[in-house]
Amino acid sequence: MRENYTLTRLYIDAALRQNADISLSKQQAHYLGTVLRKGQGEALRVFNGESGEWRAEITALSRKGAMIRAIEQLRAPKAAPDIWLCFAPVRKHRNSFIIEKATELGAAELHPILTQRTQFSRLNIDKARLQAIEAAEQTERLDVPHIHDVARSGIEAYLAAWTPSRRLIFADEAGDAQPVMTALQNMPRGPAAVLIGPEGGFSAEERDILRAQDYVTPVSLGPRILRADTAALSVLTLWQAALGDWS
Ligand code: SAH
Repeated sequence: MRENYTLTRLYIDAALRQNADISLSKQQAHYLGTVLRKGQGEALRVFNGESGEWRAEITALSRKGAMIRAIEQLRAPKAAPDIWLCFAPVRKHRNSFIIEKATELGAAELHPILTQRTQFSRLNIDKARLQAIEAAEQTERLDVPHIHDVARSGIEAYLAAWTPSRRLIFADEAGDAQPVMTALQNMPRGPAAVLIGPEGGFSAEERDILRAQDYVTPVSLGPRILRADTAALSVLTLWQAALGDWS
């Protein structure tokens, strides 16, 4: 299997089965032909989030597009850890960082939420989805995290639709929550989500709403205030190590 690791990997939005002929987007054709200088007959790997990973062959390649043929399945589909990241959008380049790192760290879904103190409410979802695809291609995962549209009605409305069997790990910088590791060590395995606030943190009202829910576990990340992007990747890392597929 190792030798396949050097083969280019592309996410495709198409069904994968033996000998399926798949047309690639113009951007993917450009990437293969112009950036990587690949040609007809060369191999690559593809995945679609459902069918594992396949070896494929370029059957046609021009400036306008490309065709590939699925040859054989290299890896069977595998359920990804059921961890979401819920976050308030921050500055553009920090959103990009959050999306890339959350994808590398195996988040299954990303939920941008506008909170009371969110200062940067614009998140280009199409661009975010492309960033997630690119990170997933590089990170050997078999799926791409689903990036939801921005939830614009605030925390309370967002939580109204919450399924209580999913633990919500709330990064609460106020200082009186239990240490994150203690919380994770006492948490049963199962669906979970991490919630990170914006630069301005959560309002007192939002903290009260969050802390009133049975499924919410407030956690502290220590005495220093971390930026939202650092906080997001810290909690995802610890969750993967304690309860996810690093454990
Ligand atoms: N405005 C806040 C800081 C917000 S940091 C202040 O100055 O006090 C952005 C987000 O990162 C927070 O809302 C929280 O979710 C998370 N975070 C940062 N540092 C944290 C810590 N030490 N413990 C728990 N969460 C933290």
